[in-house]
Amino acid sequence: MSNQRRPLIAGNWKMNGLAAAAATELKALVNEAKGHSAPNCDILICPPATLVREMATITEGSSVDIGGQDCHANESGAHTGDISAEMLKDAGACYCIVGHSERRADHDESNASVKAKAEAAHRGGLIAIVCVGETLAEREGDKTLDIISDQVRNSLPGGATASNTVIAYEPVWAIGTGKTPTPNDVAVVHAHIRKELGALMNDSDQVRVLYGGSVKGSNAEELMAVENVDGALVGGASLKAVDFWPIVATSI
Ligand code: PEP
Repeated sequence: MSNQRRPLIAGNWKMNGLAAAAATELKALVNEAKGHSAPNCDILICPPATLVREMATITEGSSVDIGGQDCHANESGAHTGDISAEMLKDAGACYCIVGHSERRADHDESNASVKAKAEAAHRGGLIAIVCVGETLAEREGDKTLDIISDQVRNSLPGGATASNTVIAYEPVWAIGTGKTPTPNDVAVVHAHIRKELGALMNDSDQVRVLYGGSVKGSNAEELMAVENVDGALVGGASLKAVDFWPIVATSI
């Protein structure tokens, strides 16, 4: 991990969490973080939109930030069921995940729509976490680097900088499966992403590139030690503080 880039350990709660149990878990996480007055990493939880405001109240004054899991490309309007970056910001979010593979698959999100959402996140004052990653068929077809190039080049808006954008490399086949790429495979893709970013951004060497996909306490240290890995995007293991904290502890 580069010394220049401050790691980000981010939890994605997906469509999980009712107020009471979520508050208990988040308070436990905040309590763990309190023992580190000047942590060496940023800590983030992205709860479902219904809980953003309440969770942001709980983390106020702590080193844990709150983010959204998706945003609409527009600021407001006739888009039933959607939520804008401005609304997330108003509720206390600082970040927003865009282009998660579950949304790319479940909602047919294209690189163009992910780009528009990342742009919207920036407009609304949020840091966009732009997700990229190959499917199993693409990996087995030796297309991983081509897919990653396509996603990085076409999902990032022109105004992306190291301050308003984070990339998350999440191989689709590693999400929620317990399978992970080898550290060498992760290193190859992260180096490739950094090379791609170099052609797009002036401050590409400062952009944080997270790894995501079945990160847990037992493999986090090995994955976080890979060159060009600047933190993690964590799904299942972020739901309980007792599982998430050991992952944070690798970078704090
Ligand atoms: C994710 O969905 O972003 C993710 C990485 O999930 P998991 O950690 O459960 O594989």
